[in-house]
Amino acid sequence: MNPTVDLRSDTVTQPTAAMRAAMQAAPLGDDVFGDDPSVNALQERVASMLGFEAALFMPTGTQSNLCGLMAHCGRGDEYIVGQLAHTYKYEGGGAAVLGSIQPQPLAQNAAGQMALADIASAIKPDDAHFARTKLLCLENTWNGHPMPMDYLAQASALAREHGLSVHLDGARLFNAATAAATPGETVADAARRICSYFDSVSVCFSKGLGAPVGSALCGSKALIARAHRVRKMTGGGMRQSGFLAAAALYALEHHLERLADDHALALRLAQGLQGLAGLQVRSAQTNIVFVDVADGRGPALLAYLKERGVLATGLIGLRFVTHLDVDAAGIDRAVQAVHAFFGQDAKSVGAAAAKGTSVY
Ligand SMILES: *Cc1c(COP(=O)(O)O)cnc(C)c1O
Repeated sequence: MNPTVDLRSDTVTQPTAAMRAAMQAAPLGDDVFGDDPSVNALQERVASMLGFEAALFMPTGTQSNLCGLMAHCGRGDEYIVGQLAHTYKYEGGGAAVLGSIQPQPLAQNAAGQMALADIASAIKPDDAHFARTKLLCLENTWNGHPMPMDYLAQASALAREHGLSVHLDGARLFNAATAAATPGETVADAARRICSYFDSVSVCFSKGLGAPVGSALCGSKALIARAHRVRKMTGGGMRQSGFLAAAALYALEHHLERLADDHALALRLAQGLQGLAGLQVRSAQTNIVFVDVADGRGPALLAYLKERGVLATGLIGLRFVTHLDVDAAGIDRAVQAVHAFFGQDAKSVGAAAAKGTSVY
């Protein structure tokens, strides 16, 4: 029996043997006393890699974003955010519930961008009628889409012209950096270039980087000091968390340049699914492939794939995410299974992929 090809998310990865060894060997202390050398090393490394003064290790990206938003905004302040952004839609409304921060959600285009004109007109004047607009929040990648560098530059400049700070939900920052890297540029350098447009950035180690747990918030020393208080208040002061930080540090040192492999596998999957009647590849950038399934057959396709050991998520549209624990053979199995569902022979799959047809 073949092992499962789990394409539900890049969060499903298991720590590699080398990562487990790094965890096992990690020096530990009590991080609430600031004493854990592994946590301190990770925080210093990620901050300097991304061009910030300081960083704070967190159990989750949700908490990291929340601490960031609450470090920027107080009660009665407002942040501008995409209608479909993770911080607004998928984090339990934490900014409003716990921070008394009013979200001002705006429509996004198919690539996740809010129009600059919409951002400008959502920034409210200093008037007793209005909440104080303090922050613009972007997400990169958004649904697998990397944000163009000039959009980041323009949105950030617009926000700063109006005295706003800018936060990036960079759960998949390093996937965005992999897509943005110019020839000869490292993923870390491209990530720092993206971060230069932001006052704070939240990154996840538990997604494409392959660590079991953890995120970090990066920013100025003053911002991180405020975030530290919120982390404690929300129960995120961990003790010998160096075990987890060591995995994240290992991932930063060894798993950045390999993200390009995940992106290549996503392209291989998209190309393998192209041209099937009843299925449309909607987008396939970085490590996430979305397909639309015609005639309401999405749930049936999902169940069919599951029986054959291929896992994805979705309903009308299906989502496939590539990561450290899938290889080309697994992707080809997924392609074969989708073809089989639609009653077609996928022998030509490899040939189509070899032609390198673009799917964008
Ligand atoms: C995964 C993710 C987060 C944080 O998720 P956690 O499960 O809380 O770690 C935040 N933003 C985006 C865009 C994400 O994909």
